[in-house]
Amino acid sequence: MSITTAHERVSDFVGSPRRMFVGGQWSDAASGKTFATPDPATGETLAHVAEGDAEDIDRAVRAARAAFDDGPWSRMTASERGRLIWKVGDLILEHADELAQLESMDNGKPYTIARAADVPLAADLFHYMAGWATKIEGNTINISVPTAPGANFHSYTLREPVGVVGQIIPWNFPLLMAAWKLGPALATGNCVILKPAEQTPLSALRLAELIAEAGFPEGVVNVVPGYGETAGARLAAHPGVDKVAFTGSTEVGRLIVQAAAGNLKKVSLELGGKSPNIVFDDADPSAVAGAANAIFFNHGQCCVAGSRLFVHQSRFDEVIEGVSDIAKSIRLGPGMDSETQMGPLVSEEQLTRVTGYLDSGRAEGATTVVGGGRYGDRGYFVEPTVLTDTRNDMKVVREEIFGPVVVAAPFSDLDEIAAQANDTEYGLGAGIWTKDISKAHALAKKIRAGTVWINCYNVFDAALPFGGYKQSGWGREMGHEVLNNYTEVKAVTAQL
Ligand code: NAP
Ligand code: MG
Repeated sequence: MSITTAHERVSDFVGSPRRMFVGGQWSDAASGKTFATPDPATGETLAHVAEGDAEDIDRAVRAARAAFDDGPWSRMTASERGRLIWKVGDLILEHADELAQLESMDNGKPYTIARAADVPLAADLFHYMAGWATKIEGNTINISVPTAPGANFHSYTLREPVGVVGQIIPWNFPLLMAAWKLGPALATGNCVILKPAEQTPLSALRLAELIAEAGFPEGVVNVVPGYGETAGARLAAHPGVDKVAFTGSTEVGRLIVQAAAGNLKKVSLELGGKSPNIVFDDADPSAVAGAANAIFFNHGQCCVAGSRLFVHQSRFDEVIEGVSDIAKSIRLGPGMDSETQMGPLVSEEQLTRVTGYLDSGRAEGATTVVGGGRYGDRGYFVEPTVLTDTRNDMKVVREEIFGPVVVAAPFSDLDEIAAQANDTEYGLGAGIWTKDISKAHALAKKIRAGTVWINCYNVFDAALPFGGYKQSGWGREMGHEVLNNYTEVKAVTAQL
């Protein structure tokens, strides 16, 4: 083992109870309560964090409302707002080592991966969105108005911020999810209350420090850590919130929609997935490593994980053997060990959930080719697992496992595979591996999912829209598509 020594600022950060960020001030929870966030590699407490509940959310909504309705934020020019957002991207890069360590310690993911992926992607998102601040535009529209013959009108649209936005994010990419949510909301001129996941509140709180350092006016960004059932539920239901943006399970997504119904706030949702990854007979040999990466990246804790692997029957044995060999070779260990390739799952709850699925797969008759259980007896590690001999009605095939577990099945032709790939209530991602570009694009069209990767997987960019068909969500994140999520359109008509 070669454990990386924590950055001095990281040791300080986790060494004292973290407070919440409301109205530009750091404060304790109104109740005075804190909760512990554990190190998933050991189960031991990593840090104590203020436990926000309904009262704290109410205070944060008041701060955000004041910043939006009367504060300097709405009076600032788009260019000034863009420069502040750009600065957050710069500060993330300046503090990249430190942020990657916090992320690794709190979530369990390898530090090396957080440093190479999560942190630079988060910075890039802010840089990309900073540019949009000055490019939010309406249209001029020629209207005919048959009810007013001879009259002359001038009509145009304004694209305006929705207002106060509540954002609820999960624990799988804590910093990156905060960036995906905050970047576009701020670029379009909204004020935000962000609730990070209880399992991983630390990087969002460090990000709030950087946002304060960048010089955002008070109340524009508020970060309230706490539990979903209390703080999250209050945010989703709050009458002073104009929109809620949620990433997490489809089950909680439904609760968010119900909670939002009270004041009919706008809702965008990025939910679960059970994404098909399809390897054809003519696929390049790199498809094997691609299929392993599609499911094992981030320990399978990805909403787009390629968790249903379909391989042409002529290549099935070879690909399954290749993916299983990779699964066996993956080095599991604490995220802060520079040799680690896969860390623990985020929590004991997820360990229980994922191993429960492994038991259910066995009970329903699936064959475990490799892996199949917990790894070690300390921390929340699960072995990378490949299951075959599955049927479409098994729980392991239908439900999102959110762990390093792939179900693999052979297929024989193009028509059959499109139907099989779409035989799911989800529609988030898909992968296609073939050298035949016509076949690839024809299948890409047939797949009901928000993202399709051809001869690659898990390629993300701030400029690409991301989101789900079917029960994988409402709306799109990133790209210019996301701007619609955070703006209202106003039609203005003047009679000349
Ligand atoms: P989750 O419950 O959906 O959590 C996501 C976020 O929603 C967290 O911040 C959570 O708060 C909050 N939340 C929970 N209940 C809420 C409520 N009633 N009202 C408002 N907010 C609420 O996900 P999980 O329990 O952590 O994970 C369970 C499963 O969800 C996973 O196994 C996986 O299948 C799926 N999941 C999907 C994604 C994704 O990216 N699509 C991400 C994470 C999990 P807490 O901080 O209290 O949890
Ligand atoms: Mg939960």
